[in-house]
Amino acid sequence: MGLIVQKFGGSSVANTERVMNVARIVTDTYKKGNDVVVVVSAQGDTTDDLIAKAKEISHHNSKREMDMLMAAGEQISIALLAMAIEELGCPAISLLGWQAGFRTDSVYSAARIKKVETDRIKTELDNRKIVVVAGFQGLNKYQDMTTLGRGGSDTSAVAIAAALNADRCQIFTDVDGVYTADPRKVKGARRLQEITYDEMLELATLGAQVLNNRSVEMAKKYNVELEVISSLNPIPGTIVKETTKMEKMLVRGVTKDKDVSKISIVGVEDVPGIAFKVFSQLAKNNINVDIILQSVGRDNTKDIVFTVSMANEEEAVECIKALPFIGDAKVFSDNTVAKVSVVGAGMETHPGTASKMFEALYGKGINIQTISTSEIKISVLIDEKDADKAVSAVHEAFFGND
Ligand code: ADP
Ligand code: ASP
Ligand code: MG
Repeated sequence: MGLIVQKFGGSSVANTERVMNVARIVTDTYKKGNDVVVVVSAQGDTTDDLIAKAKEISHHNSKREMDMLMAAGEQISIALLAMAIEELGCPAISLLGWQAGFRTDSVYSAARIKKVETDRIKTELDNRKIVVVAGFQGLNKYQDMTTLGRGGSDTSAVAIAAALNADRCQIFTDVDGVYTADPRKVKGARRLQEITYDEMLELATLGAQVLNNRSVEMAKKYNVELEVISSLNPIPGTIVKETTKMEKMLVRGVTKDKDVSKISIVGVEDVPGIAFKVFSQLAKNNINVDIILQSVGRDNTKDIVFTVSMANEEEAVECIKALPFIGDAKVFSDNTVAKVSVVGAGMETHPGTASKMFEALYGKGINIQTISTSEIKISVLIDEKDADKAVSAVHEAFFGND
């Protein structure tokens, strides 16, 4: 018996049958004597559909109104799930993010949780209610609804688990754990029993959407152990925690991220301060930069290449072009690229990981545009059309394909 936080993603509540299935999982947990807080996402593709509706009006809608719109998806799910739980004979109450105490900063569409005021949730739990909370949303200091960024319900669940000091935080989804690559796309992907926060954080940041990267960051910070588990087949899933019993694997997973745009500045003057001015200009515009590459200078000029997410592509090009020293340098972008990465804490002590990855790509005739590494990952930028082939080839090189 204890306090358990269970989070269900969009596919797990996509239709009435799935909502009833979730209600059964939740009530089974409750009937064992546990206190249960459930966090849910919008049903199926609801969030995408809402965004598409907004785009029918304009591509430049205010982020405040976008948050007001997107938050509606989760409101539907919590009400339906609370009804389903009551239908199964257990008491439930649905709460929107603000009712559940989520206070955020004011960055609309990418808000960060500042705190969770848990009084209301605790009162409802004391009354033996199953508390059903809308994920992905909160309230800022202007009393406006905010959302946490796509996939943000995972973070809502971890935040509640941390604030309530829950005994368990289970992330139910449509696959039965974290795999060495996307199990829907890569033949031979293997399920991991355990994975460390650091490795999971890299996998999530580099494209494994099974967990949102901010949720992993928060789980690590507050030491919330996560279980990624299937809502359709709830056998034990993958545990995400500080250290694992398993010996360090050379590579823990292979990921792909297509949300990448490569920005090139070609032929800029080769004098001190250029990189500083370019990247401080991007930072001032709140544009996150990922891979950075600078060529060796020649004829007093050099080239700088970096990547941003596709949503920032146009703005990045515009704000670089506006810099006074750009002069005759060419500034252009290319979003037909993808980033493929291998992740694993073991690679630190194993030379040869990079060459194995590059050999697998060479074997398929795939050209590498840029390379970046850290202690626990190697990423390459390649042509987007080769991305799936690349992930399969690299995965096969490290894990075989049976
Ligand atoms: P939810 O709606 O439950 O939040 P998501 O669609 O956000 O679910 O995440 C689950 C999906 O993540 C899976 O269906 C799977 O295709 C994908 N995925 C990508 N990489 C991985 C991985 N390494 N392990 C497991 N699933 C992965
Ligand atoms: N419904 C939101 C989204 O689609 C939040 C989530 O699913 O976690 O991004
Ligand atoms: Mg998700």
